[in-house]
This record gives sequence, structure tokens and C-alpha cells, in this order.
Amino acid sequence: MTKKILVGIATYNECDNIKYLVEQIINIGRKNIDILIVDDNSPDGTVEEVKKLQKKFNNIFLVVRMGKLGLGSAHKRIIHFAKINKYDGLLTMDADFSHPPNLIKEFIKKNDEKSFIIASRYINEGSCDYVGYRKYVSIFGNYVARSLLRIPSYEVTTSYRFFPRIILNSINLGQIRSDGYAFQVEIINFINLKSYKIIEIPMHFVDRKNNVSKIPRMQVFYSGLRLIQLFFTSIKSYQESSLDFSLCRGCKSQALIEYKNFNNGNKKYSSIDFSCSSVGKTNIKPDLHKCIDCDLVQISPSNSVKNLDKMYEDVVDTDYINNLKIKYKTFNGVFKKIKPYIEKSQQKHSKINILEIGSYYGVLLNIFEKNKLNAIGIEPSKHAYEYSKNHNKQKNINVSFDKFVKDFNAINFNLVMAFDVIEHVENVDKFIQQVGKLMKEDNFFIFSTIFIDNWFARMLGNNWPWIIPMHLSYFNQKNIHDFLNKHNFEIISISNHIHYSKISYAIKGLLNKFPSYINFLSKLISFILPDKFSMPFSLPDTKIIVARKFRRIC
Ligand SMILES: [Zn+2]
Repeated sequence: MTKKILVGIATYNECDNIKYLVEQIINIGRKNIDILIVDDNSPDGTVEEVKKLQKKFNNIFLVVRMGKLGLGSAHKRIIHFAKINKYDGLLTMDADFSHPPNLIKEFIKKNDEKSFIIASRYINEGSCDYVGYRKYVSIFGNYVARSLLRIPSYEVTTSYRFFPRIILNSINLGQIRSDGYAFQVEIINFINLKSYKIIEIPMHFVDRKNNVSKIPRMQVFYSGLRLIQLFFTSIKSYQESSLDFSLCRGCKSQALIEYKNFNNGNKKYSSIDFSCSSVGKTNIKPDLHKCIDCDLVQISPSNSVKNLDKMYEDVVDTDYINNLKIKYKTFNGVFKKIKPYIEKSQQKHSKINILEIGSYYGVLLNIFEKNKLNAIGIEPSKHAYEYSKNHNKQKNINVSFDKFVKDFNAINFNLVMAFDVIEHVENVDKFIQQVGKLMKEDNFFIFSTIFIDNWFARMLGNNWPWIIPMHLSYFNQKNIHDFLNKHNFEIISISNHIHYSKISYAIKGLLNKFPSYINFLSKLISFILPDKFSMPFSLPDTKIIVARKFRRIC
């Protein structure tokens, strides 16, 4: 049987090289080689060049990621692709010809299906063009890494490497935490800890960048720090995990890797886990995955609850009704924030139309009413809808957003609001696209959501209270731009979403996620603090985003 091998190349602005490199690989004349190019959305036309090559050759695959997500992450994507497509071997190399393509034959010759092979500058017959500072950093870095981690290889940092399938399958990408140079070191360290054999073949490393690119000092510092962490890492800290073949909720790529594992797979959810106030009640922490093409952290579609719409229909959130006064405080603050955008719209149009997706118990709708503004609220929960209908005059519709878009032929909204909604939707990309269809250029989409890339979320780690079954997606400050930009929205402002909350309730909600020996504190606090005290909370993980729709000029 012919063994199928993948050559994986990560690119960023390699328009000038990629054609010649691909042709040289194809000229080797092996029929069993596929080529994968993972590009971080290069602005120089690399993608178009690869698409041309795809028309010419049928063994070229292209993954275009949402933005510059880093070299370590690009290599993860290559390994992931080789794993899910069940290649017998993976060869990774750089796109700039610093790795001579004629060595590919050598890699294939040395392949014994169970050894890791690396092209080495630092064994007999190997050499490197580097001079000066870069040469010493490279030699010293390799020396320190291999001595400290006791890796039996003189080369540990180059990415010209061959992985047989058995090794590929043993790598759980979610647990490889390093990026940059440290990523390459962590991979080889893992392979060594797993006791696989490491073979070196000599290479002459060509310095194509002619010493122009510097090694940033921060990168050196970070790699050093990572080395120390790796020194204390044992093989026990790497657990295997099964592959997730489902498609990302954001970019639809088949690129989900493990992010946080709570082993809660078989717990049963009930509708209490899906009420708006569930943060303080549910004890279920869902396993999280991260997409390596768009960086969206999410509950994988393969293990999230089915019939989520039905769950939302049945929600009865008495806690919310009991706290309505406080909710008005929160949304009066929100209204102040969005008022300038309402006024901007009013300057242009005599009558403005507002849509609130997920109007819940109608708090914001009532504030619009008081300010003599026309709004439509759509809300899937029957209970919340009935309550809202009976308590304000604005138009309410008990329907899911999908159905609203399909059946109601409503367009031309000047402002679309969605507070605490987007993290609950099944398909983030489709949601933003649908919002875009409801409005014309220059109008505003204003929404709130949770961000995972801030000190607060990092500090709390697994105890971050927003990790609950009803939150399907967790954004970061970078990918929210990309998702919106794809559907012609530009972000005008991102600011903290200030929530008012009863002090006792907020503390209970936060402490609920901690082990029971800390939980007794919450009982103590609710005993001491009278229930009526409330105060504003402005946490760095909940944000209000104001986006404007623009006209894309092609
Ligand atoms: Zn994605």
C-alpha cells in the first residue's frame, strides 16, 4: 500500500516563494504526496497564488485563517489537518526556501513509521548561514533546550520535521501551550517524553532573510520562561483526547481542539441551566474547545445540548422578575451609552426603527417607550414574552431570530440591539450576517458579549463564572473585529458593560464556582448583608460593542 504523506507549510506573505516551492515539491515526482498551505490571511496575494496552483495540481489544499494567529498555532493547524485526514506521515517545512526541498527524499527514505525525524544544522555535515547575534542565540538556545530537557537531538528548534502517524495520533494539540520557537521545542520534548526515537538528518540551513529579521528580545525571554516550565512538565500532564470533527460555530472550519476539560460529558442539563440568572445556579461546567482558525473558544457543536431553542422557549426566570428594579438601573446606564447613536440616526431620518433581539422581560423596550422611541422586541421565551407584552406598549414577537428573519420580511432597521445574546447563538457567523441583512449602511449594531482574553478570566481560570452550558461562544478582542468585518461592520467602540447587581447575589454567583470550603463564605455574606444593597459592577470580561455597517468597496 502506498503511504500517503502530507507536506504542511505555514505562510504569511510568501507570494514570491510559494509557487516555486510547490513546483519543486511536485517535481520530486512522488505520487503519494499532498501539500497543505495554512495561510494567516496574507495581504500580499499568497492566497490567490495558491488558488492558481490548485487549478494546476489536484493535490494542493489551502486553509485560510481569519488573521495572524501565530506560527505555533499555524503548525497546530497543519498537525490537526494531518490527523483528521488520517495521513500516514506529515512533513512540515518553511515556505521561504530556508529548508532545502531536496531533503524531502531523505526524510521519506529514513521513515520507519515510528520515529520522529528532524533536519539538523548542528550535526556532522549540517550547517547554518546565520552569523553574529542570530547564530549565537540559535546555538545557545538549542544547547540549553536539549541539555535542560535531556532531548537526544542536537537540533530542537527547526520546523523541518517528519511525524509518522503513530506520533501524530499521540499529540493532544489542546495541551501544547507554547507558541513561537517554544512550540517546536515543546513538541519534540513531548515526543521524547513519550519515548519515541528521534532521528537527525543533516541540513544546510539557508538564511533567505539575509539577517534582516531579528529575533525579538521578548520572544527570547518568553522561550526561556517556557523552557523552565517544560523542565517541570512530566508526561502525565499530557492526556490523550479524541478528535472533534465538528465545524466551528464561527468560521465553519473543521479545526476544533481541546481547550478546557471538565469531564462533564454525561451530565444531564435541565432548563434551570438555561435561565438568564443561571450563573449562580448551575453547577455544570461544559467542556470547551478552541478553533485554531479563528480563535473562538466554544462548546463544541458535537457536545452541546440539542434543541436549545426549545429550552429557551420554556424558560421561567423568576429571579429576573424579582430583580427587575436592578435590571432597570443596568439598562438605564446602557441607554445613556447608546443614546448618542440614536440621536445620530434621528438627525438623518425623521422616524427611526429599533430592533431588540432577545428582549427578554422587556426592560430596555420599556426604556425606549419612555423616551418615545419605536422598537420591536423579539424573544423566544414564552414566559418572558407574555410578561413583556403585558407590561409595555412596544411591539413584541414571540419568535426565534431565525424565524423572524425568514418569516417577517422586516428590513431597514436603524439600530439593532442584542444584549447578552450572541454568546448563546448556535452559529455566530450566520447571526451577524442576518443582522447585516436587516439594516442599511451607516446604521448601528449594538450588542454585548463576554470576552475570554482578559486578566479577570485568566485569573479565575476554571472558576471563571461565565463557563456555563448556555454560553456557546467566548470571543476575544481580536476575533470580534474579524467576525464583524466579514459582514461589513466596523467597530466604533468597545466599552465595559456595567451591571448593577445585589451585592450578596453577585458574591454568591462568583463563589458558587469555587469548592465548597470557600462556598461557606457566600452563606456568611448573605447572612451579614441585607438583600437590598446593590452596586454597579464593571468587569473587564463583559463588553458593549458598537458597530457601524459600512459599504464594502470592491
Ligand atoms: Zn473558527
